[in-house]
Amino acid sequence: MKNLDDLLSEGVRGRRVLVRADLNVPLDGDTITDDGRVRASLPTVAKLTAAGAQVVLTAHLGRPKGEPDPQFSLAPVARRLGELLGSEVALAGDLVGESAKATVNGLIDGGVALLENVRFDSRETSKDDAERESLAADLAALVGEGAAFVSDGFGVVHRKQASVYDVAKKLPAYAGGLVLAEVEVLRTLTGDAKRPYAVVLGGSKVSDKLGVIKALLPKVDKLLIGGGMAYTFLAAQGHGVGSSLLQEDQIANTKALLADNADKIVLPVDVVVADRFAADAESKTVNADAIEDGWMGLDIGPRSTELFAEVLRGAGTVFWNGPAGVFEFPAFAEGTRGIAQSIVDSESFSVVGGGDSAAAVRTLGLPEDGFSHISTGGGASLEYLEGKQLPGVQVLEGDA
Ligand code: ADP
Ligand code: MG
Repeated sequence: MKNLDDLLSEGVRGRRVLVRADLNVPLDGDTITDDGRVRASLPTVAKLTAAGAQVVLTAHLGRPKGEPDPQFSLAPVARRLGELLGSEVALAGDLVGESAKATVNGLIDGGVALLENVRFDSRETSKDDAERESLAADLAALVGEGAAFVSDGFGVVHRKQASVYDVAKKLPAYAGGLVLAEVEVLRTLTGDAKRPYAVVLGGSKVSDKLGVIKALLPKVDKLLIGGGMAYTFLAAQGHGVGSSLLQEDQIANTKALLADNADKIVLPVDVVVADRFAADAESKTVNADAIEDGWMGLDIGPRSTELFAEVLRGAGTVFWNGPAGVFEFPAFAEGTRGIAQSIVDSESFSVVGGGDSAAAVRTLGLPEDGFSHISTGGGASLEYLEGKQLPGVQVLEGDA
């Protein structure tokens, strides 16, 4: 797969480069609450501008319904990008219309323009190949003859969408630094990872992660389970889980996994239970086999955190996806903090995947450089680890 360095060595001065980035940040009104994805997109943009390219960024924000909706404007992202780059980023008022044309035509060498939310156009996510291709053709025409396409939005490469997949067939296409780095890291996790190889999974639902659990179990030495999904495992062992998150329909699957992998799967031995789902709920720590009716487990307990920490500190490779508890409530963030801290303290090659897990690292104030890699693409990394093909990567490899 051709990458950004190949493009740079071809020379990009004065050339237009369309970059698909993942700038889908969480917003509170028009304030960005976590700019991780904007910052992750900077290196590729900065390399292109330093080489004199005219950079045209395309990205989505939220889930607008295929038509313009001011609530999902990329304006806050354009401002933040400009601040971080130290030079203004021109935001087009539309995607491929008159405003976009004028904005792109006004670009100077080394300048950056951002097109308005690509999901304001219903063709972006259309299931109809011809509709997507027509948007891809419009994007290619917008940047014009001699342009190139850089795919840098790892968080969307599992989507067969116009700005991810189809446009890569209309323009010479290159993997951006972010996509390349992500794919390399994920290859390590599915290939020959340094041992012992430990995976920590948490988050809310077992059903979301069953594919990953099944794909990774044969490859790992230890699988540590926390978060909401732990209660389905505890229930599968025959324990009461009170009003904790429970997926009854997954108990049979979970039982089978436990039976086949007793030596690998590590479950919490204690949990922090609450009398309701709230930041100021009454809470206490109980043994994992002693959750009373009316109480819900919202975090793993200190003995579990220490049990997990021992495994993590000695690991050669760690993959972590899914918070160990409801870390958004400070009273239930200690398990997640403890896991993250022991990964930071370990010498392992460590990868964090999942939007909420990456957000937890930042909001709990852990050093991002304490991890070897923090993935920007939750869904995409999980699909890759499940062994699924990612259309946005396949197309860059020339086999789609
Ligand atoms: P990621 O985005 O990292 O893949 P998920 O989306 O699977 O993670 O899960 C994140 C969510 O799981 C968080 O919002 C967190 O509050 C929730 N969660 C973690 N533990 C529990 C629990 N014990 N009960 C309910 N929700 C939980
Ligand atoms: Mg999530």
